[in-house]
Amino acid sequence: MYPAKSKPAGRPGPRREGGRGGHYKRKSCRFCANKEGIDFKNTAQLRNFVTERGKILPRRITGNCARHQRAVIRAVKRARTIALLPYATS
Ligand SMILES: [Zn+2]
Repeated sequence: MYPAKSKPAGRPGPRREGGRGGHYKRKSCRFCANKEGIDFKNTAQLRNFVTERGKILPRRITGNCARHQRAVIRAVKRARTIALLPYATS
């Protein structure tokens, strides 16, 4: 029933190559997954989201969803103001 349309046999389209890493395995937000709360007093937890220098890691690295990333940022900032975490040093 199908008209035998022969596809141009050949190679699949040009493959984009190069670039290391590229895709990262999509991690799901740990807070969504665990129903874990974000506590600004919990520096052990917050340290997972900042560098040793105190910089907040971007969402693409932490794997948090937007909502929880924002919550983390707030918690880190709050923790900084009460000197639980260092301010980012350059
Ligand atoms: Zn989340």
